[in-house]
Amino acid sequence: MDLKAIRRDLLDFFFPRRCPFCGRILGRELLCSDCEKALPYTGAQAVRKGAFGVCASPLWYEGAVRDALLRFKFRRDLGVLACFGEMMARCAAEELMGEFDAVTWVPVSTKRLRKRGFDQSRLLAASLCVDWHVQPIRTLRKISDNPAQSGISDAAARRANVLGVYECAEAQIVSQHRWLLVDDICTTGATLQECVRVLKAAGAPEVVCLTLASVRRR
Ligand SMILES: [Zn+2]
Repeated sequence: MDLKAIRRDLLDFFFPRRCPFCGRILGRELLCSDCEKALPYTGAQAVRKGAFGVCASPLWYEGAVRDALLRFKFRRDLGVLACFGEMMARCAAEELMGEFDAVTWVPVSTKRLRKRGFDQSRLLAASLCVDWHVQPIRTLRKISDNPAQSGISDAAARRANVLGVYECAEAQIVSQHRWLLVDDICTTGATLQECVRVLKAAGAPEVVCLTLASVRRR
């Protein structure tokens, strides 16, 4: 047994892995078998098309998925990352493989980062990249601390709220890759649309999107 495996076993002993969705203590698996069966998978509707281009998401943003994402973002429950990353990596492999060769994310503002202590989409991007042996690359910067999109329901207002709040951080690199842009949730797609617009304006030849969850449209 190598040192890494021993270390992992010790960590599992002191900090037992829990199901991200119901909190049950787990062995080696990333989520419990009950949740694995019951989660709201997007299935045949995993890919959504819109003004942002295409966005793939393994789960619908509802019930246990919504609760788990809120715990992750607002209560710093980072134990969910391995499971979320694995689901997103599988979804990208099934729905978007061949359409990108580098991974980036939708960043939070410096102010939000200081308050929350982490950038949730950056961590999701890093987690989903683990098995691909690549690192996500920073390409965007959030330059304005606009009101949270979650407090705005009107689609046009959501588009207006994110207009001009992102800028390209790495124009040189952006034009050299086809990008997978990672975020946590796709609601109306306004944030993704704006980030895709900024990346393409900076010379990105292609951008496809991936989120953990998507809001089901009625
Ligand atoms: Zn569970």
